[in-house]
Parts: sequence; C-alpha cells; structure tokens
Amino acid sequence: MLARKLDLPVISTGALLREEAERGTPLGRQALAYTRSGRFFPDEIAGAMLRQWMDAHGRHGWVLDGFPRTLPQALQLDAEFGGPEVVVALELGAEEIHRRLAERLSCPQCAASFGVTMDGLHAGSACPQCGASLRRREDDTPATVDERLCQHREHTLPVLAHYRARHLLLEVDAAAPREVVFASICRQLNLEVGA
Ligand SMILES: [Zn+2]
Repeated sequence: MLARKLDLPVISTGALLREEAERGTPLGRQALAYTRSGRFFPDEIAGAMLRQWMDAHGRHGWVLDGFPRTLPQALQLDAEFGGPEVVVALELGAEEIHRRLAERLSCPQCAASFGVTMDGLHAGSACPQCGASLRRREDDTPATVDERLCQHREHTLPVLAHYRARHLLLEVDAAAPREVVFASICRQLNLEVGA
C-alpha cells in the first residue's frame, strides 16, 4: 500500500527467495531449507538477493518489505545503498501474530498477504492486486512462527534500536484493520490520507 502510494517499487527479499526456490536455482534451494524451519536467511543470501534486485531495477527509491532483519543487513543497507529515509515497524502481540498467520493467504506473484477473516478471501481466490491464485504458505505453521518470533527478538530488535537511535524509526500499532494502520502511517509521514 505504501509503495503504491509513493509510486515506488517494493522489494520483498523473502518473496524474491521463494521465487528463486520455485525456479530451483542453487540460491533458491539453499533458501528453502531456511524458510521451512522458520529460521532467517543468512545475511549473505539476503544481501546477494538485494544486490541482484538493485542492479536490475536501479537504486532510485524503494520500499523494502521484511528487510533488513539483522544488524549486519542494516549496516550493509546503510553502507551500500544509502540506507532508508524512514523505517516503519508494525507492532503486534505474539498471540495476534499467531492468529493472523494461521489464516494468512499469500500471493505467489506480487507477494501481497491477505487474511481469510480480514479480507473475506480463501485459498484459490484471485489476488485483489494482480489476479494470481492466492495460497497458504507451507511454512506458516505454529512451530515456524514461534521460531520466527524468537529470531525476531534476537536479531531484529537490534535493527530497530539502530534506526531508533538515528531517529528514523516509526513504530505503529498494527492491531487495527489494515486501512486504519495505513492511514496512521500516512499521517505520521505527512502523506495525504486517502487518494
Ligand atoms: Zn498478487
């Protein structure tokens, strides 16, 4: 939503890696082993994907989704790509994260996520953004979600501290419906709400 609002390309390293995995590339096969267990990708893999994308699409503004997840990734982003202008952290309790991921539908084409209850969609529905067939992610199981939360505490909280210290961090309560959360982000970024 933010990328569309700002008319910027969105990069999801997770989606890029799942794409590689489907094409069966060596990078993809490596990545798959990580997503299946809920572990984060190693920094070198995530960094390589990002560099590949930046080289192909130019480096003139982007919205990064789910990256950087670790401090080394953040430092690479800052040093190599000029760093972010703002970092938006969506805050949600563990219980609500479990509830949402248990019914999450993902688009294999544009990497958008939807909820069964929140959006009234189901597996096989057409993606509202691009029309591809939505599906459940194999790795959205309670055990992998627990592992992701654990990795988040260990590796991603330092990233938030890093950007908080640089006054770039915008922390947003994500418990509200998507449109409400988005409107709140827009207001805080001084973007026009709606439109
Ligand atoms: Zn889509």
